[in-house]
Amino acid sequence: MTFPSVADSTSYLMWFRRDLRVEDNTALSQLTDSAKQALTQNNPSQLDVSQSSVSKAAQPTISNSAQPKIHALFVVTAEQWLEHDMSIVQMDFIFRTLEVLATSLFDQLDIELHVLKTADFDSCIETVINFCQQHSITHMASNYEYEVNEMQRDAAIEQRLKQQGIEFSRYHDQCILPPKAVTTNDETMYKVFTPFYKKWQSILETSPPNLYSTERVNSDKPAAERLSQILATIDDLHQQTLRLFSTAYFEAQSSNQNDQAQLLKNAEETFVAGEIAAYQQLQTFLAEDIQRYDIARDQPALEATSRLSAYLTVGAISPRICYLKAKQAAEAIYETNALNRLETQPTKPLENSNEAGAEQDIQRWISELAWRDFYRHVIADRPDIVKGTAFNKAADTKVHWSYDEQDFNRWCQGQTGVPLIDAAMRCLNQTGFMHNRLRMVTAMFLTKDLFIDWRWGERYFMQRLIDGDFASNNGGWQWSASVGTDAAPYFRIMNPFSQAKTHDKEAIFIKTWLPELKAVTPSILHDEAKLRQALSAKGELANVDYPQPMVEHKQARLYAIGQFKG
Ligand SMILES: Cc1cc2nc3c(=O)[nH]c(=O)nc-3n(C[C@H](O)[C@H](O)[C@H](O)COP(=O)(O)OP(=O)(O)OC[C@H]3O[C@@H](n4cnc5c(N)ncnc54)[C@H](O)[C@@H]3O)c2cc1C
Repeated sequence: MTFPSVADSTSYLMWFRRDLRVEDNTALSQLTDSAKQALTQNNPSQLDVSQSSVSKAAQPTISNSAQPKIHALFVVTAEQWLEHDMSIVQMDFIFRTLEVLATSLFDQLDIELHVLKTADFDSCIETVINFCQQHSITHMASNYEYEVNEMQRDAAIEQRLKQQGIEFSRYHDQCILPPKAVTTNDETMYKVFTPFYKKWQSILETSPPNLYSTERVNSDKPAAERLSQILATIDDLHQQTLRLFSTAYFEAQSSNQNDQAQLLKNAEETFVAGEIAAYQQLQTFLAEDIQRYDIARDQPALEATSRLSAYLTVGAISPRICYLKAKQAAEAIYETNALNRLETQPTKPLENSNEAGAEQDIQRWISELAWRDFYRHVIADRPDIVKGTAFNKAADTKVHWSYDEQDFNRWCQGQTGVPLIDAAMRCLNQTGFMHNRLRMVTAMFLTKDLFIDWRWGERYFMQRLIDGDFASNNGGWQWSASVGTDAAPYFRIMNPFSQAKTHDKEAIFIKTWLPELKAVTPSILHDEAKLRQALSAKGELANVDYPQPMVEHKQARLYAIGQFKG
């Protein structure tokens, strides 16, 4: 990619979207590199102007017209976000992350983040073009977003900018290996995860990902009060958008305003915004939890997973850093174990050692990052999926999905009478997060026990999750409904009672979210027949305010299998 030289012009724009960080941000790094190169090519004596260690007084004087200037932009498209089912917690998280990003850009790079508001992607096109004109931008850079509307928006902007002689460069940044980088030998997309993963690993073994650094280019430090003004703008737009989302999600559904406040408070406590918080979360996970990941990852009460998905979704951390740090941790563990073994059992050959455990945990975690890449490969290859089509259209159209709103609402509210499902849904509604195992179990329950169209569940998850991400969410739902790539075979249907027995043996998670069942023993909670009996008019739980299971799992399972068999 060639950038214009400073002699021609000097204004560059970084348009942030789902990449809200400074560190290892491909587009930002490329833009600052090119601006710096242009500066040094045209003014070799000014080589050190971007080094933040050099005091301003010591820097050579440069005429302002010759200095490249980097601007940064974020456009709030609140109505589009609602149309895309963004949750209120994710919207809130984006604004909280923007505050941190604006501060980092200002403090580290002397870049002012302009945060503008418009309704949707159509009007966003005008907003971006106008910004470019007002600031005499000659080159804009962004990182790719792979969903259909986003790609169309970018294509339209690219065309308009081209007419005005402004270049728009886009970079792959959301993945460890971007869409189309992992293909079969015939250069087609893998339809199954395992061979995709093998190829993904082999590519990364030979060419590990690069990390991109960003240097300061702007030589004029903006006045200190500019940061306060930027933060005030972000806060103002945050409050405006909060009101819009509140109307859509809470007032329209006559929910309690206290529920909204509590939800946002819970999310804020768990998901501290910004790239430093994200990086600390990664470090803590690698130091404390990853070594038990393979065993503990399926037990929701342990909270033993990384909880990085929200950060990855808004781009507050780069997936490449997650990958490289995990690899580094695996190597360190291997070395420590090998040394320990040499000291304690010097005669035993290393190759026979049994220290693979922790490495296996790490490899398992890395494979989850690969799932994230896999689902992005899928939507980039099959844009129709973004518009509601199942990967396996034949299976999806053969079955007669239910559209029973009453059943659906009971599932949404956590009132199905199946303790693990209700605990998971209430956790989601109150925190904006749900553990992976529970996402699978609740999605299977909706699609196989209630036989409700997976699209309804997919949408509800997007409207509630702080990490709502089209590709991963759609992939997870199509997997659960047995209509996706590499989907769960239709006859392998999770029994929510045995899932609870295996993964929440002492019912700690269930009791956290269903306090009305605190006194009930796990042996009753994990057994559908016993629970039905206990909740019946003459049963020991007759006075407990908790519904009978709304479907009998065995029967529902047979019905679902019959539908898929056709
Ligand atoms: C029905 C359903 C819906 C889902 N919706 C989303 C969603 O909207 N956004 C989202 O990020 N993930 C989604 N997932 C995947 C997964 O549940 C979450 O990524 C995970 O629970 C996040 O917790 P964590 O960060 O602690 O994960 P960890 O176990 O620590 O995994 C590390 C990272 O790997 C990625 N990852 C893990 N599992 C998966 C997976 N199955 N598919 C794709 N990426 C994965 C995530 O980015 C995650 O942060 C969904 C899964 C299912 C079954």
